[in-house]
Amino acid sequence: MKDPTDFVDTKNTLSTTLVIASGNVHKIRECKEILKTIFSIDILTLRDFPAYTPPEETGSSFEENASIKAVHAAEALGALVIADDSGLVVPALNGKPGVFSARYAGVDATDRENRKKLLLDMEDLKEEDRFAYYQCCIALASPKGLEKCVEGKCEGKLLRQEKGGEGFGYDPLFVKHDYNKTFAELTESIKNRISHRRKALDKILPFLEDRLSK
Ligand code: IMP
Repeated sequence: MKDPTDFVDTKNTLSTTLVIASGNVHKIRECKEILKTIFSIDILTLRDFPAYTPPEETGSSFEENASIKAVHAAEALGALVIADDSGLVVPALNGKPGVFSARYAGVDATDRENRKKLLLDMEDLKEEDRFAYYQCCIALASPKGLEKCVEGKCEGKLLRQEKGGEGFGYDPLFVKHDYNKTFAELTESIKNRISHRRKALDKILPFLEDRLSK
């Protein structure tokens, strides 16, 4: 594990450095793309700290898991951190896959396997029960502890077959309300303007701005 003091010395810009506590390349890309249009800051991710071991996601809500991840990384890395916990919620399946979105078909399941299980589980649902929403919670933490946790939602419906090759996770199945393409058929820049992650990041920005100006 890199010593937090080394981290501060090496960068010497702690007040303008933010760590995204994620190793998920898709989430990192989306967060970086969204943040770079607004801020001129150095953004690191957990990929820059290969020796760091993230905590177990033991929470029963997106909010709890985002907070666990942000607080743990901020303390261990001695940095200002944001962590995203997100997933897909299908009310007709009692909220599944929910916080288990990444591991719906099993601990090491791929996105494709998770989508396949979801399609099977929804096979007998009527059209109106195919309503679903993405939820994203973003927690902001410093080495002193949790500072803020916000959420963003994006509502839509799930198709019966996959469409599109962009995005990740459940994107080939998800069509946002008022759109006729899945998230996987939209360009990344369009998804980044309308997504649950964008909505959550927009809400955290004032707190981040305030924190980075100190
Ligand atoms: P987490 O890394 O524990 O927050 O799990 C996130 C999981 O939720 C991902 O692996 C996807 O299955 C799903 N997910 C979250 N956000 C998105 C998105 O923007 N598109 C598609 N799937 C998503």
